[in-house]
Amino acid sequence: MITANIQKINQEIGVHARLIAVSKTKPLEMLMEAYQGGQRIFGENKVQELVQKYEALPKDIEWHLIGHLQSNKVKYIAPFVSLIHGVDSLKLLQTINKEGEKNNRIVPCLLQIFIAQEETKFGLNQAELMELLESISQEPLPHVQICGLMGMASNVDNEVQIRNEFKGLKNVFELVRQRYFLNNPHFKEISMGMSGDYLIAVQEGATLVRVGSRIFGER
Ligand SMILES: *Cc1c(COP(=O)(O)O)cnc(C)c1O
Repeated sequence: MITANIQKINQEIGVHARLIAVSKTKPLEMLMEAYQGGQRIFGENKVQELVQKYEALPKDIEWHLIGHLQSNKVKYIAPFVSLIHGVDSLKLLQTINKEGEKNNRIVPCLLQIFIAQEETKFGLNQAELMELLESISQEPLPHVQICGLMGMASNVDNEVQIRNEFKGLKNVFELVRQRYFLNNPHFKEISMGMSGDYLIAVQEGATLVRVGSRIFGER
């Protein structure tokens, strides 16, 4: 089942987006099943669970942290994480830079942008985003690579609203790319779309979709 689900989603999303299998709360056996079906990118939202799964599973897996990250936990994932999706403050970025330096790595990150019309979601608003980008253009962080933006649409059934939120993220991405990353080929990722809305996300320009329950079943 898991492998069939992954194949189906890969066919739907095509070549412009990559699938992150969001395996939070799921046991190692299920991740191994996905791995044996060819899946190599997994996403987790808790640092401890990410580290445990990293240690237990094959080393050619790319691990993405998709959830909120606290500064004091960066050190546990800095040695191996492939992409941190949820960066939403300069302080966190500075901590990632420091831990990247200790590990002699450049840690790939996405800046999380607030796009939903909901109070609870993390992320930077546009003014905060610009402020952060100004700060790091003055004072670069050599052990961090900003690879793009991440966002979560509102948890609603309204497709028009979701599509507009994704369009908004894509617009911010283009604006930021032109202003700050024009000669930087690394700034190319738009992480948006989950089980309920990944098709809309891909239509609106997602390059990474984060899909959990459609692959592994409900949590
Ligand atoms: C859990 C989670 C997902 C996947 O959610 P599904 O609806 O199960 O696909 C995607 N992104 C983030 C940030 C998550 O926490």
